[in-house]
Amino acid sequence: MTTQARQKLINLECTYCHTETPLYAFKGECPNCGEKIMKPRYEMEGFDVQAWLKEIRNRPETLWRYHELLPIYDTNNIVTMGEGGTPLIKSRALAASLGLKHLYIKDERQGPTGSFKDRQATVAISTLVEMDVDEVVVASTGNVAIAYAAYGARAGIKLWGFFPKLTPSEKMREAALYGAEIIGTTGTYDQTKALAASFAENKGIFLDKGIKSVAATEGMKTMAYEIAEQLGNELEDGQRWRSPDWYLQGVSGGLGPIGIGNGFEEMHEFGLIDKMPAFGMIQSSGCAPMVEAFNRGQRVATPLETSGSVIVTLATGNPGRAYEILFDYVQEHGGHFEAATDEEAFNAIRILARHDGISVEPATGVTFAGLFKMVRQGIIKPDDVVVVNASGHTLPVEKRILGERWQNQVDMSNAARSHTVPTAELSSAVRRMGDDFRRVVVIEDNEAAARLMVRILKARENSEVYLADNGASGLTLIREKRPDLVITDLMMPDVDGFSVIESMKSDNTLQQIPIVVVTAKELTIQERDYLSTHTEMVLQKGSFIDEAMIESLMQRLN
Ligand SMILES: *Cc1c(COP(=O)(O)O)cnc(C)c1O
Ligand SMILES: [Zn+2]
Repeated sequence: MTTQARQKLINLECTYCHTETPLYAFKGECPNCGEKIMKPRYEMEGFDVQAWLKEIRNRPETLWRYHELLPIYDTNNIVTMGEGGTPLIKSRALAASLGLKHLYIKDERQGPTGSFKDRQATVAISTLVEMDVDEVVVASTGNVAIAYAAYGARAGIKLWGFFPKLTPSEKMREAALYGAEIIGTTGTYDQTKALAASFAENKGIFLDKGIKSVAATEGMKTMAYEIAEQLGNELEDGQRWRSPDWYLQGVSGGLGPIGIGNGFEEMHEFGLIDKMPAFGMIQSSGCAPMVEAFNRGQRVATPLETSGSVIVTLATGNPGRAYEILFDYVQEHGGHFEAATDEEAFNAIRILARHDGISVEPATGVTFAGLFKMVRQGIIKPDDVVVVNASGHTLPVEKRILGERWQNQVDMSNAARSHTVPTAELSSAVRRMGDDFRRVVVIEDNEAAARLMVRILKARENSEVYLADNGASGLTLIREKRPDLVITDLMMPDVDGFSVIESMKSDNTLQQIPIVVVTAKELTIQERDYLSTHTEMVLQKGSFIDEAMIESLMQRLN
């Protein structure tokens, strides 16, 4: 069966009224009702699914192995870098701590530009080549523009990338590296989209229509095909394809789940899978119009003007029709909308990295934080087959561009107060100081950390440990007990660790007492210099995991 020779007719089905229009005659909206989001249907003479399944097995593992079912007529126009075919990684440690038997991570970080936007870009840029377009405008929070810029560079297509405020500058720089024109705006993502659209219109340049672009949703569709095939290999000995019980993704505009939903529906129609997966769609609490509407039982989302989240990748404030489509999907096939805070997302990033060695970007952290919540709430059951989209790789977040708001949002002072104590270092530090240090004052405002330190210190014979939970009472204790050693945290309300050190050093009866600092604070160069001249030792606390982790650590110490 030579696919090249086979005639392909692509019709676009309106997602609202189901009227079909041939792709070549499509003018951007349904001729019957004006709807803009379309779903392609492929009519191919003599197309036999079973024969096709056999044939694609011998093709390279890129998403183009499904090219018959993608909106491209001539495979010579394909612009590819081996995208798609990403591994479906079985989680062990994280699955075990969540009590899940079948947790799989679809590792989209392994795409050429590090996110699942590579699927969208390869198909979109290939169709532009087919249409002879040589310039394109795109509004992006980063990943779409990076992927389009890279594929555009290969195709000789110039990209104009419009970015909302708060886009990490690393992402803009990467797009610039591929030769894109970079336009950073001071607006929100929705405002930036409008600006890009009017720029494209004024200049007569092709505008990428995001979710309204069939190339984009069809690119995403390929992930559904891969998941079904890979799960078939995992759970059915490769005898048949199968869908998961759950597909989870961090959601902004909803392009991913809409495309992936189309893929599962298409496979269902072909008889390749026998059920549709439920969708878990997770948004950032600071920008969760879909979740808010879902919680109110509404099919229409109320647009948000601004995002209260630092996770700009998920900053679509007005999901419009996309949410209705996804709401309908959940009504028909099951699913759930959930929100996670920025702090929960950052915490989830650490947990995933530590458990399974997979480091993801904040938008994907949101997804995992949502997974934790859905498991805890019993929405996801222990036996469920769960696939989580690891949609993008971590990148060092540019601090300056995020400004103070970022620091408020990701303020670690709460978390820092329950940071785990570097137990081994602390015991060896105290041991190295010899047996003369009998009386120790510990100033630590986190109860769990304080308990742990006291336990470590009391393990030494003859030691007397005095505990204060704030700087002021710590100083009182120091003056009263004249300890041999002071161990203090830095970040405490009111009188902090620096003030304690300052007071001790300016009192000639206390200035000889050695001080050990145990802190989770990120130290500036000045602070580091100050501490190196005024204290004996600075011990950095490990990263925050959670209370349960501290508990288990403490149990192991018992
Ligand atoms: C675009 C993006 C999302 C959100 O995807 P949508 O399907 O457009 O809502 C999530 N994670 C990453 C890494 C992304 O780049
Ligand atoms: Zn219509």
